[in-house]
Amino acid sequence: MKQVYNFSAGPAMLPKSVLEKAQAELLDFNGSGMSVMELSHRSKWFIDVIEAAEANLRNLMAIPDHYHVLFLQGGASQQFAMAPMNLMVKNKKADYVMTGSWSKKAYKEAQNFGEVRIVGEDTNNQIPTLTKDMFDPNADYVHITTNNTIEGTAFSELPDTGDVPIVADMSSNILSTPIDVTKFGLIYAGAQKNIGPAGLTIVIIRDDLVGQAPDSVPTMLNYQTHVKNKSSFNTPPTYSIYIAKLVFDWLLELGGLEEMEKLNRTKADLLYQALDQSQIFTAPIKAEYRSLMNVPFVSVNGDQELEAKFIAEAKQEGLETLKGHRSVGGMRASIYNAMPLAGVEKLVDFIKKFEENNR
Ligand code: PMP
Repeated sequence: MKQVYNFSAGPAMLPKSVLEKAQAELLDFNGSGMSVMELSHRSKWFIDVIEAAEANLRNLMAIPDHYHVLFLQGGASQQFAMAPMNLMVKNKKADYVMTGSWSKKAYKEAQNFGEVRIVGEDTNNQIPTLTKDMFDPNADYVHITTNNTIEGTAFSELPDTGDVPIVADMSSNILSTPIDVTKFGLIYAGAQKNIGPAGLTIVIIRDDLVGQAPDSVPTMLNYQTHVKNKSSFNTPPTYSIYIAKLVFDWLLELGGLEEMEKLNRTKADLLYQALDQSQIFTAPIKAEYRSLMNVPFVSVNGDQELEAKFIAEAKQEGLETLKGHRSVGGMRASIYNAMPLAGVEKLVDFIKKFEENNR
């Protein structure tokens, strides 16, 4: 089989050992004689899977008991609506920090549900400096996007919002480093980058924020429904939850998120260093705002032909999906948790070789 390193922003690579385990268990899960895909979500077999997935995630992220873990569907995009529908209810106001395309989408959706204010906007792909006095103390929450998948920027520290809960879209950097969950009111993430296959969305929500939604909120869009029914009010995305559980097992075996962070820093440093030294490519984001997960880069001269040649030749080498997002162009290497160091080393070697041949 051809060795491919997939730099896609999502759906993204999964750890090989996870895929091998899933393959080995595909036809007969745990002596059931059935695939996980065929198991009833009410069966003991599957309840064991979802409970282990939750326990593993709690363990990895040190999630306290007064937070609920939910396994939902609809993607992070559905959370753009669900968060305001459930949380923007007391004062019907929220502050949104704008750091890229995905925060804009979250902001736009929230406008349907109350008074939404922009606090801090990225200029030139910089994470804005945020001080406590900028936030409205009467806002129901402050929304941030901790890692900006398209722009390749990330928060290095959280803003101080006082008593106002932070709602965070962590789709593209959840589980990449340890975080203090108690600093957040709600965390959400689509699974298809650092968690597992598409079709699953993880929500971590503080208990006091559940149960505030007005009666007009549809049953499936009310967090309380999913808290009360342990994410099985309707049929949950069973296979995606099973793979997520295997990914959590893999992370625990690796030594948890401290170890994952070390590896992620090694990978990102290696790639940024190669780009900073390059004469033909550059990583445009300033060092202090750089994402550990998504690394955009462009040709120094804006030479689109050279970029297209790079992407095509990289593909020949098994370095897949390096094209930048259609809105920004250039290249983007997404180096999520499951991208092995060897994949980044191969990319760095290829960048150097390409440069020698195209100077
Ligand atoms: N937020 C961020 C930060 C993302 O990167 C993405 C997907 N790339 C989304 C939201 C949308 O996620 P989904 O496709 O799961 O709705």
